[in-house]
Amino acid sequence: MRKKLNSITGKLILTIGSMMLIAGFFFAYVFITQNPEVDIWTVLFYGGFFVAVISVILCLILYYIVTRPLSMLTEGMNKLSMGDMEQRIHIASKDEIGLLAGSFNSMAEELKEYKEKMENWTKSLEDEVQKKTAEIVRAQEQLINAEKLASLGRMAAGVAHELNSPLTGIVTFAYLMIKRMPKENTQDIEDLKVIIDQAERCSRIVRGLLGFSRKTASEKARVNINLLIENTLSMVRNQAKFHNIAFDVDLDKSVPEVTADPNQIQQVFLNLLINSADAMEENGTVKIASRPTEEDGNKFIELEFADTGPGIPEDITGRIFEPFFTTKPAGKGTGLGLSVSYGIIKKHGGQIFLKSGIGGGANFIIRLPATKGGND
Ligand code: ADP
Repeated sequence: MRKKLNSITGKLILTIGSMMLIAGFFFAYVFITQNPEVDIWTVLFYGGFFVAVISVILCLILYYIVTRPLSMLTEGMNKLSMGDMEQRIHIASKDEIGLLAGSFNSMAEELKEYKEKMENWTKSLEDEVQKKTAEIVRAQEQLINAEKLASLGRMAAGVAHELNSPLTGIVTFAYLMIKRMPKENTQDIEDLKVIIDQAERCSRIVRGLLGFSRKTASEKARVNINLLIENTLSMVRNQAKFHNIAFDVDLDKSVPEVTADPNQIQQVFLNLLINSADAMEENGTVKIASRPTEEDGNKFIELEFADTGPGIPEDITGRIFEPFFTTKPAGKGTGLGLSVSYGIIKKHGGQIFLKSGIGGGANFIIRLPATKGGND
């Protein structure tokens, strides 16, 4: 492009130069024929000098009017094509080259705007892809977890069902034996009581398993969750385990009612509170909050149970809802509290999950669907 422009300018200069030369020689010829007494070499010298001066002036004018603006344009285009969107050409003249420079500048401005739009669009697309990928990964993890828990639940339900009758038998026959036992056989009576205690403990575990595997019937009613939380708290406040625990309660009065089995939901609250008390070694603060939320046009009630305990190490967060998973010493934890809670909340069409457990205490979230057509 540059070469082409230079050759056009060159040709222009050559043509004008040649015309000046011919005009010079023509005027020299006329001058000599009019004044034959003047020396031919003098005429040629002054003629040539005149032509040379005019040519230099013309070349300078051409350089400033044509060559320089054209090379500025060429350079601008080259820089623009290499991605320099800030490139602008400052030519003040009102002629065609000035117009060309103006068009170039507005074209560069538009290109810059388009480039910025494209960059913004690409960035928002990348952000959206990242967000969706994270959502898919989370959903996949939840699905795997739900499947794992469901198959564990089926297995647990089978085992619990099989164990229920023999356990009832053990307890019943142990009681019968105590009745038949002579009063003075105190040692035997004590041993039988231990058998009954242990068998009843097994029964409690079995009941928990059945709760987790949704095999127990539930009695649902319209429940005011805030009230249920208050009731649960007044229940635990009287227990020694909770004497040194402060409750930071923030219940939103506008939460809708839920259709639920109040006993089962209370069992979930108790499980969470007992776990917090254990984790905090019976000294700390439990924050309990309720608030209304909405997802895809459906109303939910969200509950938060957060404690000031040590939190849950990252390597076990994926296992805490599994039946029989416990980090508590033997005899203290059954590993059923959270799995039973999970089963209960699922059965109510809700969700329970650990929002954050690493350092700074454990923070559990429960989401329950609001009663359709209930109070808002
Ligand atoms: P258990 O209480 O019998 O151990 P859970 O199913 O209720 O059974 O809890 C499983 C495990 O989850 C606990 O053993 C503990 O490691 C962990 N956990 C649950 N809640 C908390 C909490 N608030 N803080 C720390 N760890 C917790």
